[in-house]
Amino acid sequence: MGKMQFDPDIAGNGCAPASPNAPALDVADLVKRYPTGTEALKSVSLAIQPGEFFGLLGPNGAGKSTLIHCATGLAQPTSGSIEVFGHDAIDHYGHARLAVGLAPQDLNLDWFLTLEETLDFHGGYFGMRKRDRRERTKELLDAFSLTEKREERTRTLSGGMKRRLILARALMHRPRLLILDEPTAGVDVELRLELWQYVQRINEEGTTILLTTHYLEEAEQLCDRIAFINDGEIVARGTPDELASEYDVGSLEDAYLKLVGRSELSRAKVEAVLP
Ligand code: ADP
Repeated sequence: MGKMQFDPDIAGNGCAPASPNAPALDVADLVKRYPTGTEALKSVSLAIQPGEFFGLLGPNGAGKSTLIHCATGLAQPTSGSIEVFGHDAIDHYGHARLAVGLAPQDLNLDWFLTLEETLDFHGGYFGMRKRDRRERTKELLDAFSLTEKREERTRTLSGGMKRRLILARALMHRPRLLILDEPTAGVDVELRLELWQYVQRINEEGTTILLTTHYLEEAEQLCDRIAFINDGEIVARGTPDELASEYDVGSLEDAYLKLVGRSELSRAKVEAVLP
């Protein structure tokens, strides 16, 4: 904590938009049906504007990961369209891919690589030149307080360091859209606050953020706008305040509980019945 040394250029600026006013992410009528028959996304439409901090919230199995996988080329949608800064992310993924950084939920690091190699290989995969990779690696290791560990293998890192490295790796190629899939699932309070500081800073420096989270308090604090997804459909969207007033409740959490049909779990009601 308190060790942030962000270079002004930590935020993304890679890959020019196809058109100046294009949304950072524009999803239209997206359907994803898995071979098992599960319809994980049922005609989802969603637009995220450049510079926004956008939260996608929903219970387990709602379709959040499927949406992220479709937007990052990891899953092929059944129908519909996805554009990233105006670039088609389905049929011409090359440009879109450069604009997106993904910090996945699972710690999918190669445990036999060093931290430096992890970032360098990722940069190589995204076509960065050697010198640029070297400089960017140094800059990110510094920014995430990982410089001392640079020659160690990733498997030797603590949980918090692994999370920070995943974030650094997602930022390596300077994506303009950073997708964070449950970045704070299972992390302790201190690390959660630290990660919040990092992503807020990255957003302030211009990177658009799409965050999925289970923590409503996290979404309320960080996000400009939020969409609730339930059973493959976007069931509500707006600023945290708009959502609370639309559902005639005092907090985002209560709006969420109302939407998923679990209003009896509202803190106010639970506290009222506790001895
Ligand atoms: P979330 O990320 O919101 O928890 P997911 O996108 O992982 O939700 O899942 C949405 C639905 O799609 C769930 O019913 C899940 O079981 C199903 N699903 C996810 N991945 C696959 C897959 N590879 N094959 C078949 N069904 C899947």
